[in-house]
Amino acid sequence: MIGRYAPSPSGDLHFGNLRTALLAWLFARYDGGSFLLRVEDVDTGRSSRESAQRQLEDLAAIGLDWDGDVLYQSTRSAAYAAALNQLPTFECYCSRKDIQEASRAPHAIPGSYPGTCRDGGVPSGRPPALRLRSEVREFTVHDYFAGSYTGEVDDMILRRGDGDWAYNLAVVVDDAFQGVNQVVRGDDLLSSAPRQAYLASLLGLPVPEYVHVPLVLNKEGKRLAKRDGAVTLREMDLVEAKERLALSIGLQPASPAGLLEQFDPAKLSREAVVFE
Ligand code: GLU
Repeated sequence: MIGRYAPSPSGDLHFGNLRTALLAWLFARYDGGSFLLRVEDVDTGRSSRESAQRQLEDLAAIGLDWDGDVLYQSTRSAAYAAALNQLPTFECYCSRKDIQEASRAPHAIPGSYPGTCRDGGVPSGRPPALRLRSEVREFTVHDYFAGSYTGEVDDMILRRGDGDWAYNLAVVVDDAFQGVNQVVRGDDLLSSAPRQAYLASLLGLPVPEYVHVPLVLNKEGKRLAKRDGAVTLREMDLVEAKERLALSIGLQPASPAGLLEQFDPAKLSREAVVFE
């Protein structure tokens, strides 16, 4: 197995991010696999090297180790351009706001693109985004927890009008480039998996095994966020944070090796964890 964790460097990782990272590490190391790190800094406006550095320090602080060099998506433009060349695309002149909503945030549930520019858009003076001319409207993937999952595929953004590469394209190209065959991440991204698997199939790339894990929630039952208070590692006591991470996965606090010894994916709870 080759697993990975792929944070976007736009702020410190919080307890929920760290739990997902630890799970990705446990799944990969469980059967002696490799674990890779990738910094998803394609969104140039929101990413910073400083934030990436802090995230790597935090991952090391909770005991995670990784193999090889960290891959920065900001160095991968040539690979994304080569992939883009192999895909059927069209220019889209829809407003920047539409484009941001559809492509910027991996966690957004993008409103399905209505096909406005598919048969020829009206140039707006702005540089156009490039969208995939998708031949399907849905695609089925397999997920460790969800089983067979069919989700929507639309004419997704591949490159934004401002030149930034879209998350969906970058993630597919890089998972294949890094040989990743197991993607463990938060279940807010389950709905993106069909788009990504379809892109992979168009590019002749293998589709990884997906493990979408429940997110950590706040007391209101909403996804934990930084506004929920002292939720980043640097705001918490490190020893206590590590204990709580282990307990949140149903393991007794221990060293990374000790956690690995206890870890059994079949026993992992599918319930969301609430952060008090
Ligand atoms: N970079 C994405 C994020 O920060 C995760 C992408 C992925 O794991 O596929 O949520």
